[in-house]
Amino acid sequence: MKPIYHRILLKLSGESLAVEGGTGINFDRTVEYAHQIKEIVDAGVQVAIVIGGGNIFRGLKGAAQGFERVKGDQMGMLATVINSLALCSALESIGQPAQVLTAISMVPIGEHYSKWRAIEALEQGKVVIMSCGTGSPYFTTDTGSALRGIEVEADVMLKGTRVDGIYTADPEKDPTATKFDRITYDEIYERGLKVMDMTATIMCKENGLPIHVFNMDVVGNLRRVIAGEGIGTVVNTQ
Ligand code: UDP
Repeated sequence: MKPIYHRILLKLSGESLAVEGGTGINFDRTVEYAHQIKEIVDAGVQVAIVIGGGNIFRGLKGAAQGFERVKGDQMGMLATVINSLALCSALESIGQPAQVLTAISMVPIGEHYSKWRAIEALEQGKVVIMSCGTGSPYFTTDTGSALRGIEVEADVMLKGTRVDGIYTADPEKDPTATKFDRITYDEIYERGLKVMDMTATIMCKENGLPIHVFNMDVVGNLRRVIAGEGIGTVVNTQ
């Protein structure tokens, strides 16, 4: 396989580590992801990862229950650290060197994130898992991954989801929905498509980071994206 991307930022939702409809972290599922990630590292791709925390806690949902918003967001950011440690452990268990960096200082759990530390580890062949999103409340890990993808100079942000790309409408609710192979950032906005939050989409647009949305739940899809098999939807300026 000749990879079409050299350095990627892979965004995984927290829920992807739980089994269908569940919460928490499923060990077998996490190891399954680790194998898929190792496969592309072995093919020569540098892999940086941002993982969400929605399987454990989301600040907005917490605030709706009565938690103070900033504390809720901090709880959400800590949830991303738990997920990052789980994925790091799974990668190491199959022989793939990996490292967790944290946007909020918490040595010895992880080294404090910096662009240069991340790139150095990527160049050493490690999978770099960048936790705590942006490190600030009122953001999401989608925005965190746009930011980190831009900072580490990734070729693309791969957004692993449960659907196989971007549709004209929610395919689970509208059977007439059709999938885009390519779409522009502006079209996402104009059509009001819920791909990821607007802050993240605009950051990608303004800094020229393409987004490739695909179904990460199908084993082998990550390799297919990297091999340029044309699955999923690519978001770019044209
Ligand atoms: N969060 C935050 N700042 C960030 C990233 C995340 O405050 O830069 C908090 C926020 O409360 C969010 C939670 O962490 O709800 C978990 O992240 P997210 O909802 O993006 O996770 P996902 O939906 O991808 O699992």
